[in-house]
Amino acid sequence: MTRAAHTPGPWQDNEAGLIYGQVSGDDDEAPFVADCCNKPGSGEYTTQEKANARLIAAAPLLLEILRTKARDKEICTCHTRSWYGNRHDTQCPISIASDAIAEATRA
Ligand SMILES: [Zn+2]
Repeated sequence: MTRAAHTPGPWQDNEAGLIYGQVSGDDDEAPFVADCCNKPGSGEYTTQEKANARLIAAAPLLLEILRTKARDKEICTCHTRSWYGNRHDTQCPISIASDAIAEATRA
């Protein structure tokens, strides 16, 4: 499986609407990820924008948790798995997690 080329986590919200990754390698600046403030520099940073920033900053951690869950055979709810070439049912949590990961990491 090919991994997405997103900025490695963890990501941090600078409390002003900007999301950054971590300084790594020879870089001396944290890589920019996103700007969640619609009117930067205006002093207007809404409650919803702050919530969006926190959610976006948590994305790498949430993705890793989802990857862990997608490998957890204990959460499988399939009753017919052996009938369909060992694939998970579309409503199985493993299938749902795998589909969400594929969507979040597609090129
Ligand atoms: Zn399953």
